[in-house]
Amino acid sequence: MSRVYNFSAGPAVLPEEVLRQAAEEMLDWHGCGMSVMEMSHRGKEFIGIAAQAEADLRELLGIPDNYRVLFLQGGATGQFAAVPMNLLRGRDSADYINTGSWSKKAIAEAKKYCKVNVAASSEDTSFTTIPPRDTWKLDPGAAYVHYTSNETIGGVEFQETPDVGDVPLACDMSSNFLSRPVDVSRYGVIYAGAQKNIGPAGVTVVIVREDLTGDPLPCTPTLFDYRIQAENDSMYNTPPCYAIYIAGLVFQHVKKLGGVEAVEKTNIEKARMLYDLIDSSEFYRSPVDPSCRSRMNVPFTLARPELDETFLKEAKENGLVQLKGHRSVGGMRASIYNAMPVEGVKALCDFMRDFERRHG
Ligand code: PMP
Repeated sequence: MSRVYNFSAGPAVLPEEVLRQAAEEMLDWHGCGMSVMEMSHRGKEFIGIAAQAEADLRELLGIPDNYRVLFLQGGATGQFAAVPMNLLRGRDSADYINTGSWSKKAIAEAKKYCKVNVAASSEDTSFTTIPPRDTWKLDPGAAYVHYTSNETIGGVEFQETPDVGDVPLACDMSSNFLSRPVDVSRYGVIYAGAQKNIGPAGVTVVIVREDLTGDPLPCTPTLFDYRIQAENDSMYNTPPCYAIYIAGLVFQHVKKLGGVEAVEKTNIEKARMLYDLIDSSEFYRSPVDPSCRSRMNVPFTLARPELDETFLKEAKENGLVQLKGHRSVGGMRASIYNAMPVEGVKALCDFMRDFERRHG
């Protein structure tokens, strides 16, 4: 068996240790004679698995008791609708910060349910920056302020939680969840699709302040009603059981590594290696302003775009895959999530140096 270094933006690389454990437990989970995939979600085994996953996530992020943790379906895209449905609570508008493709999608969906005030946008820089906080035109009457902490396609990342006063802060944390410590108490709701730092696609983590639940729009599907899902331990209907189980294994793995603080150190090291190489080269270029470069998704271009295909082909021959940039921006993108080992980034840097020497 030979594993490649997989730089996919998601679904993405998972810790090998987690995959091995899942393989070992595939046919017979802890002596119960069946796979987690085959268990009733109402049985004590699965209820235990889900409760442990929640407890471990609470510990990892220090989630306060007045926040509910939900494991839902529908992806982050589902939450683009669920957030306004649950958080409007009688108000008719929300503030959104537009920092790229995923913010735009969140905005378009929210417009179906309320007035959207785009309080700040970096579209004028082609989304290579984050609008400085003191330029945001926030509405004190807004139901909430929404932002995307890491733009997976453009590769811009907020380096800190923005201060928005008393208006609840809603965050799409899909692509940098668990990559750095976060003060959950500063948020109204945090949500993240799993398929980057959490586990397989199919489960969406939602962390919501309890007092913001219970007053959804009448049209809200029961499945997206935060209060109902919280009261039912995310099991109003059949949850994505296997994805929750793998997410639980990932949480235990992150705990073993020393928690999100330890993971953050490694993420800083990996990102620094790659950006240093790009910045010190005449051949590679990062389009993103250094102040807001993502530690998770690193887009870069080659000085001669006609070499893109050769770059991808040779990278693949060297066991480095999924480096093609998103079709909307072109170039390359290396996604270096938590589970990408330091050795993987080193191998990419070595390959890039060698490629430049031969083709630059
Ligand atoms: N937001 C961000 C930041 C994302 O990266 C993605 C997926 N790549 C989404 C939302 C959409 O997530 P999903 O496919 O789980 O609906």
